[in-house]
Amino acid sequence: MMHKRAQAHINLQAITRNVELLKKKSGTDLLAVVKADAYGHGLVEVSKTALLAGADWLGVALLEEAITLRKSGITAPILAWLVPPGSDFQSAVTNNVDIAVSSITAFKEVAQVKGKARIHIEVDTGMTRGGFLDEWQEFLQSDFSAVEVIGFFSHFARADEPSDQQNRDQFNRFKKMLSELEAVGVRPPIKHLSNSAATLADHGSALSMVRTGIAIYGLTPDTQMGSSKSLGLIPAMTLRAKLHLVKNVPAGSPVGYGATEKTTRDTRLGVVAMGYADGIPRVARSAGVTFNGKRAPIIGRISMDQFVVDLGPDSSAVSGDWVTIFGDEGFSADDWASASGSVNYEIVTRIGPRVPRIYDHG
Ligand SMILES: *Cc1c(COP(=O)(O)O)cnc(C)c1O
Repeated sequence: MMHKRAQAHINLQAITRNVELLKKKSGTDLLAVVKADAYGHGLVEVSKTALLAGADWLGVALLEEAITLRKSGITAPILAWLVPPGSDFQSAVTNNVDIAVSSITAFKEVAQVKGKARIHIEVDTGMTRGGFLDEWQEFLQSDFSAVEVIGFFSHFARADEPSDQQNRDQFNRFKKMLSELEAVGVRPPIKHLSNSAATLADHGSALSMVRTGIAIYGLTPDTQMGSSKSLGLIPAMTLRAKLHLVKNVPAGSPVGYGATEKTTRDTRLGVVAMGYADGIPRVARSAGVTFNGKRAPIIGRISMDQFVVDLGPDSSAVSGDWVTIFGDEGFSADDWASASGSVNYEIVTRIGPRVPRIYDHG
């Protein structure tokens, strides 16, 4: 162990296995979604691993993320889908980055750059977030000769509820809008709609490519669909921190800001060297850490850089020992999510930049 107070261990072998499983499941090309620093797992390392495992594309939200990937030497196709009007579209062309277009304003800017921009047309099929909706008919009248239309895509709102009618409605709307585009002579070779949940649920919407994010990190898109394990996924991140201090305290000791909890017995408390500045959710209540295979619940409020756990009166832990917050033993990212009214996506993506990512090549 390095002399750090907290580490996020990233099991790259798990990422490999998850990509292989998802690719087999979809039977199509796979775009590995690596936005937000690869969901907190590390942009460049995860991207290289996913490509070696068989991913065909990389997908990011921001153009800056795509350019970081290019600077790292990655030559695989990359799509960036949150590139608003006023962005440096020229740099997308210079760096060979595909851009999603979902407004006429952005399209006009993209069409003016030197060299042909590679675009993916995003349509709103019912999520009512990104994608063409009210401008669609007008957009169909555009002159597409200044760009290369590579892709056509949309995003599911409820893919984690596979039997919901909205999925079928969105898929039908997708096919209708695609035929309208083809009717004006534009035939994008790559059509993509499925996220992780749609890919795992296998409801026939894989088309020519899937865009999988959360599942490549080994996490379930929704606990209602099953646990990581039951879906055959391997969680890639294990978050560990040092016990900054271990101390014995008497029953009735008020712990932390606001004295929201008191010890109910003489016990041994551990001060964990991570806090909400590192992405540990302040609202978390029923989660905790694991020491030597034994769970120690949170007691009192999470502070900025630290929180306290009840190790139990018989614990052998001493100051400087490491505990697992979530991952390969004890609590999962899903446990922390349910303890804080959130989702595993938020738990892993918010682990902050103060926490070094340690890559385990397996
Ligand atoms: C984040 C994102 C994905 C990946 O979703 P997961 O649920 O993590 O698989 C796919 N497509 C788009 C457009 C996204 O923004």
